[in-house]
Amino acid sequence: MADLGRPTKTVEIIQKYNFNFRKKFGQNFLIDEGILEKIVSAAEVTKDDVVLEIGPGIGSMTQYLAEAAGKVIAVEIDDQLIPILKETLSPYDNVTVIHGDVMKTDLKKLSEEYGDGKPFKVVANLPYYITTPIIMRLLEDDVPTKRITVMVQKEVAERIKEKPGSKEYGAISLSVQYYAKPEIACIVPPNCFMPRPNVDSAVLNLDPYETAPVSVKNPKFMFQIIRASFNQRRKTLANGIAGGGLGIDRLTVEEVLESLGMPKTVRGETLGLTEFAKIADALKEH
Ligand code: SAM
Repeated sequence: MADLGRPTKTVEIIQKYNFNFRKKFGQNFLIDEGILEKIVSAAEVTKDDVVLEIGPGIGSMTQYLAEAAGKVIAVEIDDQLIPILKETLSPYDNVTVIHGDVMKTDLKKLSEEYGDGKPFKVVANLPYYITTPIIMRLLEDDVPTKRITVMVQKEVAERIKEKPGSKEYGAISLSVQYYAKPEIACIVPPNCFMPRPNVDSAVLNLDPYETAPVSVKNPKFMFQIIRASFNQRRKTLANGIAGGGLGIDRLTVEEVLESLGMPKTVRGETLGLTEFAKIADALKEH
């Protein structure tokens, strides 16, 4: 039975192993049974699933995942946690702990070696210092994933979900929305973690699309255009792209915008994926 979702148990384990929280690894452990249950149910984990957990910590969520899933593969960077996980996960024979940095781990190989090559469900309380790189890696790399359910800072979850025109809308909203449908499952207050973070968190579900919602000839080029136009937020799209080091000058962008029936002074913040796809294709052809 999962027994780690209580603060007293977490304190007991931490003291027993003389564990020191490492800020550089974004360690905020979950200490709320209700939230742990909510995450597993938001991910809709079943015995058919192979779950990839990023950063199991002392194994609190891993225990819940092991009970619900067919298999769990958990990648943890902090060497202090490896002997702890050995103890806390000893009742489960369907969990494999890998000691390593998830950003340097070959996830496809992991899936073939330990997960029967099945697409992963990724479930994680993500370390906040690499939230975006991890999400983008999961979406962009050819790691087959069925669903990604992650705890992130509330503000990041909201930014990912934003639509054109809002203040928080940015390159991350467009990049994620090209690959997956984002949905916030619940908001989680700081007192559900040890140590407490300074801000609210949110559980974010990302369901990857089988077919992208817009068609674009060169998605990589479109993302370069998107990043360039949001790098200089208050500038027009033409100035943003011209200053983005892509070898494209302002007049070219303005000509392309006019040919697409858009004003020369349009700003990136007001455009959606459909417009960025058209602009990228037209700039490539120009
Ligand atoms: N899952 C645990 C929980 O919810 O209680 C811990 C979550 S804590 C927010 C993030 C975890 O990710 C920590 O255990 C940390 O050591 C681990 N971590 C940080 N950077 C990592 C990396 N690059 N690769 C793998 N794990 C990492």
